[in-house]
Amino acid sequence: MAPIVHKYGGTSVGSVERIQAVARRVAATVATGRQVVVVVSAMGKQTDLLAKLACDIVPHPSDDVALRREMDMLLSTGEQVSIALLAMALQQLDCPAISMTGAQAGILTEREYSRARIHKIVTDRIQQHLERGKVPIVAGFQGIASAMDLEITTLGRGGSDTTAVALAVALQAEACEIYTDVPGVLTTDPRRVSEAQLLPEITSDEMLELASLGARVLHPRAVELARNFGMKLVVRSSWTDEPGTVILSPPPRRRTSFASLETSQAVNAVTADRDRAKIVLLRVPDRPGVAARLFEAIAAAGINVDTILQSIHPTPPDETKGEMTNDIAFTVPRSVAAEAAEAAQTVARDLGCREVELDCEVAKISIAGAGMIGRPGIAAEMFEVLAAANINLQLISMSEIKVSCIIAADRAGDAALQLSQYFQVVPHAVADPAPSKIRNHSPVSGVALDFDQARLAILDVPDRPGYAARIFRRLADAGIAVDTISQSQRSQTNLEGAATNHIAFTIHLDRAPTAKTLLYQLSDELGCSGVAIDEDVAKVSIVGASMEAHPGTAAQLFAALASANINLEMISTSEIKVSCIVRASEGNRALQVVHSAFNLHEPHV
Ligand code: ADP
Ligand code: ASP
Ligand code: MG
Repeated sequence: MAPIVHKYGGTSVGSVERIQAVARRVAATVATGRQVVVVVSAMGKQTDLLAKLACDIVPHPSDDVALRREMDMLLSTGEQVSIALLAMALQQLDCPAISMTGAQAGILTEREYSRARIHKIVTDRIQQHLERGKVPIVAGFQGIASAMDLEITTLGRGGSDTTAVALAVALQAEACEIYTDVPGVLTTDPRRVSEAQLLPEITSDEMLELASLGARVLHPRAVELARNFGMKLVVRSSWTDEPGTVILSPPPRRRTSFASLETSQAVNAVTADRDRAKIVLLRVPDRPGVAARLFEAIAAAGINVDTILQSIHPTPPDETKGEMTNDIAFTVPRSVAAEAAEAAQTVARDLGCREVELDCEVAKISIAGAGMIGRPGIAAEMFEVLAAANINLQLISMSEIKVSCIIAADRAGDAALQLSQYFQVVPHAVADPAPSKIRNHSPVSGVALDFDQARLAILDVPDRPGYAARIFRRLADAGIAVDTISQSQRSQTNLEGAATNHIAFTIHLDRAPTAKTLLYQLSDELGCSGVAIDEDVAKVSIVGASMEAHPGTAAQLFAALASANINLEMISTSEIKVSCIVRASEGNRALQVVHSAFNLHEPHV
């Protein structure tokens, strides 16, 4: 019978008593005749404590390769404590068990300290222990860069989930069960919203978005692996026997080689949607309720909006009324462009904004693939390929697993060709989204909140091909992943009389100091007018696979936030998520109102 992989997180092994409780659960499973392989995290907050020790010596160890190597050496010790203790606890129950470090378990990774991806797992030693009737207890979150030089690497914070799924795949296990301190995946973080409800099932696409938008219950790369290899993945409570949440993955598209677990092709689809129109509202007042009114009007006309971007203007107030203003851009199917533009005009008039632009000749070109997670260079490569073909980017929207650019419609064919050659995939036109099999009472499955965000903007970037590519390449080379990107739609002119616009984006707060230095350098090199940084923001996001079939979901989100008088500072969307940047001080309140606006406190049937 195929083995089963259990993974226990930090809280679940946070004390000797809890380790003994885990041992009893594992021993009980073994007693049913199953082969079990266990992955554990470091005890409690041990990894944080170790990281804090390092930061007391070097404030930003992640900026330097030599320091990152030492960080991995340090942080990997946490898991070595818990594996040994759990193996002892099992032996005390007369259940033979043996602890194994990442190296002993044959976990081979790339040589990329602190964010290594798993190449492959040589499972021979684990198999031998299983055959001898022992329970292998494997240290999560660590591996070695090659069997030759034995360099210890770690997979990135939260990476034990990824170790567990990778092991399950390599061992062709029956399932991977992630045991944690909550009953499963809930509609939002139960520590922030006590009414959060358990989701018995969630699709892997939704889980990927939620995980990368701040719901730390699963590491996004673990979800990616489970999806790529069709591994059954379950999240359950360490304290009860309840079934928890099943993450539903589609059958794997093709038999992916076990020889390259996380490091196979990053991009597996290039799509071109030539049937788009772009509507832009310039200089709309920067106050709560504006986006809500606009998208409610569009939804009332039965029109489904997809890419929505609202950009910031950190520059001095407009000449108009001395009030700060924003630009909002969105795309709709070309067939309904006129109606959408008319609805937008009406709202714009009421808001005293006269500038509405309609461009019916745009296309959306996208690259997608779960292998893009944690590889910031892939988006930069896309921008470079398009820049080399002299294609200008009008809007950029990103999620962890997809990057879409709005470009001139007459360049769509060329863009698709260049990108598919570069990423070696066959381009295809977009198909209608496959309907989600899960029928919820809400188009939204979950809401996530992320405080670990900083918003940066580089001001007055020349509006010509190649500039976005240079900016995001420089950040990617420093290992900085960018998520919400938005470009202002209003062209300013710089001192040389060339059209410019601002490019704003969010990154992980930890990387803000490095990104800031890089942006100042870039601003000088590219002739931009400066940099704006805001570390006092939070990102609140809704995720739902059936959102596409429900026009007005975004409008409902904006309306909920407006009714709580919360201002939206940036908006960005993908097919199954909408994210808004708000003031950090409003983050918790935003989460609460959004959660109840979508009735997520009602139990799921
Ligand atoms: P572990 O140590 O077991 O890996 P983590 O702390 O990494 O546990 O993840 C579990 C935590 O994730 C929960 O305690 C909860 O606070 C948080 N969380 C955030 N969003 C969600 C969500 N949507 N569903 C469940 N838990 C969530
Ligand atoms: N101990 C590591 C961390 O805290 C890995 C994990 O728990 O998944 O990030
Ligand atoms: Mg975790």
